[in-house]
Amino acid sequence: MFLQELNEAQRQAVTSESRHSLVLAGAGSGKTRVLTHRIAWLLQQQRCQPHQILAVTFTNKAAAEMRGRIESLLQINPRALWVGTFHSLAHRLLRLHWREAGLEQTFQVLDSEDQLRMIKRLMKAHHVDDSRYPPRQVQGFINARKDEGQRVRHLGTPLDPYQKQMTFLYQEYEAACERGSLVDFAELLLRSHELWLNQPALLEHYQNRFQYILVDEFQDTNTLQYAWLRVLAGDKAHLFAVGDDDQSIYGWRGARVENIQRFDKDFPGSQLFRLEQNYRSTSTILNAANALIENNTARLGKKLWTDGQTGEPIRLYKAFNDLDEAEYIAERIQDHKQKGFRYQDIAVLYRSNAQSRVLEEAMLRAQIPYRIYGGLRFYERAEIKDAIAYCRVVYHPDDDAAFERAVNMPPRGIGDRTLTTIREIARELDISLWKATVEACKNGLSARARTAVLGFVELIQSIQQDTRNLSLEKTVALINERSGLLGHYRNEKGEKARTRVENLEELVNAAREFDSDGDEIEDDMPAMAAFLSHAALETGEQQADTWSDSVQMMTLHTAKGLEFPLVFLSGMEDGLFPHQRCIDEPRQLQEERRLCYVGITRAKQQLYLTHAERRRLYQRDTFSPPSRFLNEIPEELIEEVRKPSKFTFNPPPRPGNSLPNVQKGTRFNDPDSDQTWQIGQRVTHKKFGLGVILGYEGSGERTRIQINFEKAGSKWLVLSYAKLQAA
Ligand code: ATP
Ligand code: MG
Repeated sequence: MFLQELNEAQRQAVTSESRHSLVLAGAGSGKTRVLTHRIAWLLQQQRCQPHQILAVTFTNKAAAEMRGRIESLLQINPRALWVGTFHSLAHRLLRLHWREAGLEQTFQVLDSEDQLRMIKRLMKAHHVDDSRYPPRQVQGFINARKDEGQRVRHLGTPLDPYQKQMTFLYQEYEAACERGSLVDFAELLLRSHELWLNQPALLEHYQNRFQYILVDEFQDTNTLQYAWLRVLAGDKAHLFAVGDDDQSIYGWRGARVENIQRFDKDFPGSQLFRLEQNYRSTSTILNAANALIENNTARLGKKLWTDGQTGEPIRLYKAFNDLDEAEYIAERIQDHKQKGFRYQDIAVLYRSNAQSRVLEEAMLRAQIPYRIYGGLRFYERAEIKDAIAYCRVVYHPDDDAAFERAVNMPPRGIGDRTLTTIREIARELDISLWKATVEACKNGLSARARTAVLGFVELIQSIQQDTRNLSLEKTVALINERSGLLGHYRNEKGEKARTRVENLEELVNAAREFDSDGDEIEDDMPAMAAFLSHAALETGEQQADTWSDSVQMMTLHTAKGLEFPLVFLSGMEDGLFPHQRCIDEPRQLQEERRLCYVGITRAKQQLYLTHAERRRLYQRDTFSPPSRFLNEIPEELIEEVRKPSKFTFNPPPRPGNSLPNVQKGTRFNDPDSDQTWQIGQRVTHKKFGLGVILGYEGSGERTRIQINFEKAGSKWLVLSYAKLQAA
């Protein structure tokens, strides 16, 4: 029986008879495992039917895993369960009850890039100065209000001009979404929460239905998510939440760790469970994490121990610069690969997305396959967004965001002036761009502009006609061809264009797979609507597994809940991690420390910490001291390492695809001549032959230069003796 896979404390939580339960426990103690087993146990004991369970996970991937595990524990179809992220669950609800939610049936989900474009467009239309009101700040403002459950009407009349402008843009944005039946991520949840409040009968139905509600990563729920849960749980459901206050890392995005402290009050009669045994990490890694987090105040306090092995010490590498750091990591990865690790067992974590590029370059040079987890995902690539925009316009022409994207891609001679006219008509008559286009054709456009615009309108209408009875797969294939996107990229030369063509073809595959897998959402939902929402909600998590054996690279935030045998935590520098803007703010500093705790506790067997004395980031050179978090880890757990003096052979960079571009900006002088050198430049040396400049240190006479030679590997040379020639 599967309860045997649990320790005593876990078993008690899984089989809890009390109405509400909170499992409060540290990293790697089996919280997620307990949650999954609880679902299996409920079903196996026939406490409820599968459709009476609603489980909230942190990622879509976690949801898929949970379904898989439940399927293997019990022979039931896990599709009957409502398992997913807050976003995907809310989306499912709105699809089912679009009418009650005040939406059109064809409503579309806006991802955050779409949202930003739309805000930029609105600001332009209203001549708002985007240096005083950066569009991202406006986006942040709108989302934060929504996460707090606040509509424009709740904001009152702001007095200060800044708030006034923000509120105005919020209002305009809302109107535009309403016109196009567009729903952003925060709106998904807010709408479905309002659905609860405005439709008592519907709420009652779901309250009766979901007898068992389970929530993972409870510490990172925000105000609205918590309210959503509370309302749904009502006074009938059983709520089972698992979390760890030490891993609350989304405070900056509105998460309220206080929700854990309130649990007892809001859900009376709840029982608290603690799990203290960690099954994930070696004792060295666990001790380091425990010591670090001790430095935070106001913790709920937890003990965490392991009877696992001591394991290897934590390795600390001080790099000369970021390139050196990346190279070191790549070398260690190759070492471990030779020792029998698979690439997929290895994760490289970083604080900021901007760090990834240098790391990626090092992986490329060392020919290590890697995946950016949660990075530029398939559905975010430009050509895919173009194709999706066509699908959206075909399916729902009033979708302004999609219209804007598709109308002149591939270019069909519709000029800026024509578009401005169309936008003005739309605003004046308060209609969609599509309808405004039809109006504009009647009156207001030059003959040439009219021909171009009519071409687009007729194209969309003919696609609508011809795809009426086609499968999803065939529809997408037809749209790829007819829109002209495929032709456009086929005519373009180069590797990039080829990849784009491949990606468009991959989209057809995605449509086929989606169609055959179509019971994702309720049966009566049109396949195209479901597919488009899938594209918007997909967070690219799958990407990481499509390539079987590759190193996993991701930000620390994305790593939550995951585990890897070998972890590299890079960029351990004050100013980067903890982040500069958090250093002077005790609350934020504590959140950074929790993030570090999350990072360390991802490692099962071995952990490497690296930092660089010099780093080029955001187009600036920075010199930062080692992260203060390093001092908070007991010395005896750490072993400082140097690079082995043996240099590994690095294949020369491919022509035209050499070293990182940003680094190419860094120039420095030769002390002996007027010559300047550039990082990334190809040079020849009398003895060592051809190589590429990787970095330099010091100045004047003392300048030393690091070169990666084709034959001799990486070497440090004194620049004034090196007698280099540009190659
Ligand atoms: P996090 O806080 O990082 O989300 P968690 O508390 O959710 O961690 P899990 O991911 O559920 O922890 O479990 C950590 C690891 O320990 C997993 O590999 C899991 O399979 C293993 N594990 C948990 N409980 C047991 C157990 N009783 N026996 C053996 N392995 C266990
Ligand atoms: Mg977990």
